[in-house]
Amino acid sequence: MTEDNKNHGKSHGRDYGIQTTSGLGVEGRKRYAMVIDLRKCTGCGSCVVACKSEHDVPLGVWRMWLKTEDKGTYPDVKRTFLPRLCNHCEYPICVRNCPTQATFKHEDGFVLQRFNRCIGCRTCVIACPYNARHLLPNHRTDEKQPVGVVDKCDYCIHRVKRGLVPTCVSTCVGGAFTFGDLNDPKSEVSKLVKKNSVMTLKPEIGTHPQTYYIGLDEGIADQVASYRHRSAQMKEEYNTFKKNHEGFHGDLTEGGSHIVVQVVRNFLGFLKEIPAKAGRVLGLGG
Ligand code: SF4
Ligand code: SF4
Repeated sequence: MTEDNKNHGKSHGRDYGIQTTSGLGVEGRKRYAMVIDLRKCTGCGSCVVACKSEHDVPLGVWRMWLKTEDKGTYPDVKRTFLPRLCNHCEYPICVRNCPTQATFKHEDGFVLQRFNRCIGCRTCVIACPYNARHLLPNHRTDEKQPVGVVDKCDYCIHRVKRGLVPTCVSTCVGGAFTFGDLNDPKSEVSKLVKKNSVMTLKPEIGTHPQTYYIGLDEGIADQVASYRHRSAQMKEEYNTFKKNHEGFHGDLTEGGSHIVVQVVRNFLGFLKEIPAKAGRVLGLGG
């Protein structure tokens, strides 16, 4: 990777790499993926709590969450669980729709956020068919944390780079999560995908999710939502979010004064980067 590309991908002290094409099955490339064996999930929620704590996720928003579904009637009732997170899609709709390339696909398969480029427009939030993204509030207890920008699961890239697995994987008491390189046939994820009948969420959309499920009950998997249905759902979620965050005003389309300031500030930052980027593209250095 060139020095330019390294700097291009840096945000909040993390090296996020470069915008890249699909690496699935490409020799010499890594393709990180997650396999969740739902037969082993007890619904304890440890993964969700670990994720909240690892990433200091604010009240009312989630990088990871647990969906539950009850089936049958008493006394013959069964509860099923579905841990949900970003699918790190091979063809991510969120990336395609972001106007500033704040969200991008890393060469190792992660779909990541560059907070310094995000203008908080929430296009990606609406575009993601899996509801995997959220807007961060304007006030954080820890002032060093990003505000007014969109965030999501990043497969704990900071841990993976140090040879660890994502925090949900190491915390799961049932051992339901397996994480690894799908391009390596000897990895546990590859073996699981090969050996089991794995399913992904909403495969018909063509996003090619890289979070796979074993034992997925189709009843608990979301059906494809129309844009109209989705925006109504988004509005409701956003209103709940507002209730949980004092000082956050406006609605989904208007935005409040805080968010407008944030958007303008981020957008000016984005404009400032254009000459340097143009220079790089034209091979003039900079
Ligand atoms: S699940 Fe949503 S946020 Fe994650 S990569 Fe796919 S489209 Fe993007
Ligand atoms: S909210 Fe940020 S990441 Fe999402 S589309 Fe807008 S600029 Fe891109």
